[in-house]
Amino acid sequence: MKKHFFFDMDGTLTRSRSEISDSMVAGLRDLLANGCDVVVVSGATKGQIIKQIGEVTKDVVVMAQNGNHTELSNGAHLWRNELTKAQKNKVFTIVRKMIDKANLVINDTSDIVEDRICQISYSLIGHNAPLESKEKSDPDKVIRKGLLESFEKEVAQLNELGVQARIGGTTCIDFTIWHKGDNVKRLVEHMGWNKEECVYIGDALFEGGNDNSVVGIVSTQEVVSPMECEILIRELIKYKDTSFR
Ligand SMILES: [Mg+2]
Repeated sequence: MKKHFFFDMDGTLTRSRSEISDSMVAGLRDLLANGCDVVVVSGATKGQIIKQIGEVTKDVVVMAQNGNHTELSNGAHLWRNELTKAQKNKVFTIVRKMIDKANLVINDTSDIVEDRICQISYSLIGHNAPLESKEKSDPDKVIRKGLLESFEKEVAQLNELGVQARIGGTTCIDFTIWHKGDNVKRLVEHMGWNKEECVYIGDALFEGGNDNSVVGIVSTQEVVSPMECEILIRELIKYKDTSFR
């Protein structure tokens, strides 16, 4: 009996930094038409989410920057957890070391680090690098897992400053104050939803992934691609008589 559906965006609802497909929008609209809530939880900014999922943004709860900037579908602003200057400086120091250690070919060095106010995102080869290059650069997350392991001590220092580092998107390591799990929990409590009726669907539920923090907060369902996510939504709608009521 699931009524509240949380979706990751990149790798789940869409390909990296790409527009959502019409059929995926139709699936989300079917969920909404069945009286369900749809929540999009992404490392992206709200502006980027609008760019990728378009008009349907108005009908969903938006949890941008891993939920550190959350707004309801009616536009009501719920919270914004901004990184402090000291936290950002520490993140920039670690990211510089990670860039050196990764030693990858980068075409546009200005495209590697994005300060999104509530989140800093480090992309291995560039946030706006060609999609195919991005998808090929670290498909099994080995490079990013290796970086997090190599800089375990620095990441622990960041944790002491209240900042978390997680693998996100297709090429990113995201730095935020709260992770997705904290923010999902906060939203469920704020809305007064029964957590048994919530499900989170994402492609990075593995340890170190930016969806992993949701494990144990609400039930989770892993998908490996938007295609698999769409099949899952179709299944959910098909069995709505038993699943939704
Ligand atoms: Mg993802």
